Amino acid sequence: MSSIKEQLTNYARLLLQEGVNLQKGQTLVINVDVENYTFAELVTKEAYKLQAANVIINWRHTPISKERLLHAPESTLKEVDPWVPAYYKTYIDKKAAFLSLISADPKALQGVDSKRVTLQSSAINTAIPFYHKAIMESAVTWCIAAVASLTWANLLGYTGSDEEKLNSLWQTIFTLCRIDHTEPGQDMSSHLKRLEKRTRALNAVHFIELHYTDAKGSDLHIKLPKNHVWEGGTEANKEGILFNANIPSEEVFTAPDRLGVNGIIHSSKPLIYQGNRIDNFTITFKDGKVVDYQAKEGRDFLTSLFDIDEGSSYLGEVALVDHYSPISQSGHIFYETLFDENASCHLAFGAAYPTCLAESDGLSKEELEARGLNQSMSHVDFMVGSESLSITGLTDDGAKIAIMKDGHLLF
Ligand code: ZN
Ligand code: ZN
Repeated sequence: MSSIKEQLTNYARLLLQEGVNLQKGQTLVINVDVENYTFAELVTKEAYKLQAANVIINWRHTPISKERLLHAPESTLKEVDPWVPAYYKTYIDKKAAFLSLISADPKALQGVDSKRVTLQSSAINTAIPFYHKAIMESAVTWCIAAVASLTWANLLGYTGSDEEKLNSLWQTIFTLCRIDHTEPGQDMSSHLKRLEKRTRALNAVHFIELHYTDAKGSDLHIKLPKNHVWEGGTEANKEGILFNANIPSEEVFTAPDRLGVNGIIHSSKPLIYQGNRIDNFTITFKDGKVVDYQAKEGRDFLTSLFDIDEGSSYLGEVALVDHYSPISQSGHIFYETLFDENASCHLAFGAAYPTCLAESDGLSKEELEARGLNQSMSHVDFMVGSESLSITGLTDDGAKIAIMKDGHLLF
């Protein structure tokens, strides 16, 4: 086993090479919490070793953001200063690589009125639609990955000194990112290529509908749009540069037909939405739309999610994850979608990825919607996978093919 310093360096390289696949002369934009400045410094060093043109850091500190959400006059929450869209436009135009380093802090915005959070996030989303479009269409390379934080380490119940707790969490991150598995076939790069192979097998079948059932009573039919594409693992941006949008990743996913979802589905893990916890919830769909929802905890936050826009109460993603993936096997609930979604089959409310439809290049929002791809300012994953989930696929010649049986993926 290598020292933590070597592991951190290997991890930084993984994010730059397999994650955003930083090219010589390319600019790198890193979104990161102030708390993680030492890791940001390490990534910056490694990026310049790879001959980055420039490394731009977009510092975050949620307690400061929270002060604005709590105390700024409501009218100002709708305001976005002109430099914000200019900032994003600068780096989209430069075809920069975007690396977001995140850690879980589900209570970060506790006590803030969720309407004020929505007001602010809607204003920002409205100001930078071109940025979201570039990300969703993979016009630029981007990657979301985890960094250890003390809040997160405490949440997962690690003990010892602060340094020991942080190191324990880093070791978990390294395990899930297969950092110490350098032998051929066992490393992250080989794993991500295997996922890509799984997508090819699913794409070869041309399913028209998926049927979900589980021990809690889920019974959901999801139609898939004509010409849908399964994606997962390594993908290519518009210039053909290979990258991985999530590290780690265990999922393969496609877009549902936005009007073709019917039945009931039960959540299998808590959903942390804008710093709030929603748990044990049940969603009923009719012709694609959420028509009823119940939650043992946090139902109001589901309400505010569905209030964002029309598309936020329709589905935009269907993702398959083996229940026996390393993240699932770790037994943790990570309180962070990047990890939890990779432990479990999931669905997402909100926008679909245009890349999940063949020949979608250059189609307008209206055209994408007409072909079944949901449109929304939001995209929120929620987990439905468990050891009892089974999924059967229906093909256009009426054949039924088992895709998942009791949590085991058969593809
Ligand atoms: Zn997903
Ligand atoms: Zn998603």
